[in-house]
Amino acid sequence: MFCPFCRHPDSRVVDSRTSDDGTSIRRRRQCPNCGRRFSTTETASLAVIKRNGVLEPFSREKIISGVRKACQGRPVTDGDLAQLAQKVEEAVRASGASQIDANEVGLAILPPLRDLDEVAYLRFASVYQAFESLDDFEESIKTLRQDHANKQTTTGSAAADR
Ligand SMILES: [Zn+2]
Repeated sequence: MFCPFCRHPDSRVVDSRTSDDGTSIRRRRQCPNCGRRFSTTETASLAVIKRNGVLEPFSREKIISGVRKACQGRPVTDGDLAQLAQKVEEAVRASGASQIDANEVGLAILPPLRDLDEVAYLRFASVYQAFESLDDFEESIKTLRQDHANKQTTTGSAAADR
């Protein structure tokens, strides 16, 4: 990359260190032309395209803060939320794309949240999918109940063993 001071097209790495969480590398660079130093951060690129078209880096913190509200009063721990955010990140990274719609991030949150807590899931889905009426809730609850019924029939024998 260009030196941010003099636009010289080359720079020398004088120091590299990995961030504490291991997800990025910070490099100190020196411009051989003007001698000034600057830092760069290297991460596996994953940007979220917000509804207004602005790009922002994917952040597990954002996922957690977005879901935390829906989990209020539910038996969900910080550890659960951290795990959920990791699952979401794995799901969106699995696509291999370096940019992803905020919409798709929301969709990726739904399945692990549903596994975690169905009430929180319904709350989140109602906001995220903009439920407009009781029918929307009813539809979602019906789907959940249906899946419960399916699980019971497929795991019926295993449950009987317990
Ligand atoms: Zn320079």
